[in-house]
Amino acid sequence: MKELKNHNDKLTFFSGNIPLESLYTVGIAGDKFFQSLKNIGALLSSKCSRCNYVYVPCRLFCERCFDELKEYKELEPVGAVYSFSEVNIERDGSPVKTPVQAALIKINGADSLFYHRLNVKKPKIGMKVKAVLEKYRKGSINDIRYFEEI
Ligand SMILES: [Zn+2]
Repeated sequence: MKELKNHNDKLTFFSGNIPLESLYTVGIAGDKFFQSLKNIGALLSSKCSRCNYVYVPCRLFCERCFDELKEYKELEPVGAVYSFSEVNIERDGSPVKTPVQAALIKINGADSLFYHRLNVKKPKIGMKVKAVLEKYRKGSINDIRYFEEI
């Protein structure tokens, strides 16, 4: 039997930083979602005609059965808190100045969950909430300031 040789002693490395930037494009469905949010303040969903699952934000393909999604529907930005948390640290591990509530929200008429900021005194699972929209919207997820209790 031939013995495998270990070549790890030939590895080398460089220390330092590599300046990289990236630009994430939202894609066709994402663009439709953000245009809907910007123009009419609605959350655009897409429904799978095969398995009937409703996604918000809308998608081009079903993540469950891989069918193409062609049926779009505008949903009111209202729903119920499915889960929530409080964010107390920045991405670099430093403490935040003001804690932020984050929640998974089950938008009425959708099956998927929608993640966004929450702004309530005492969050509860099942609490009915609605989105508070910016007056001048740009087609960004931050066009929704947060969700508040109804
Ligand atoms: Zn499906």
